Amino acid sequence: MVNHTIGVLALQGDVREHVVALESLGCKVIEVRKPDELELVEALVIPGGESTTIFKLAEVFGMTEPLRKSIASGLPVLGTCAGLILLAREILDPASGQQSFGGLDISVRRNAFGNQNDSFETELSVSGIEGSIKAAFIRAPIVDSVGESVEVISTLPSGQIVGVKQGKVIGISFHPEIYGDARVHQLLIDTI
Ligand code: GLN
Repeated sequence: MVNHTIGVLALQGDVREHVVALESLGCKVIEVRKPDELELVEALVIPGGESTTIFKLAEVFGMTEPLRKSIASGLPVLGTCAGLILLAREILDPASGQQSFGGLDISVRRNAFGNQNDSFETELSVSGIEGSIKAAFIRAPIVDSVGESVEVISTLPSGQIVGVKQGKVIGISFHPEIYGDARVHQLLIDTI
């Protein structure tokens, strides 16, 4: 087995759960906060949390351009929830000044499930993964539209798009990692 070195962007959000999931797959994990740490990894996870905060901190830590460049030049990336928002070409309802790192030719809507139902748990399927996945949606975004080269890998029964893949970039609206499920992380590793 190859021991890959995978980064978790550790500016804000549920970093620990992703570190545990990746370690369960035998990966060496680096918490990435600085450009030189990004250089060391073969793939990156951008966790859930608050996309506006992660973006602001990326600016403060000088990470915005290095992230944009690495992603554009083919770094495999998995973004969950806020991480998905940060990979989208277009954020439909950005907070003031909020931008993304790019990577997915999609537009997303933040907090798309409204107040009443803004957090829930369900089972869904994801292309490339056998069986169903337990998924927590926590103030989750929805993928509103996808470009031609984007593969939809997961939808809710309503048809709403909650998982996409474009080349080596994977984005999901939900959190499998909080249940200790590392199968989506395995999909990321398979792209290396
Ligand atoms: N609502 C958050 C945002 O806009 C995402 C929530 C999450 O990552 N669980 O960034």
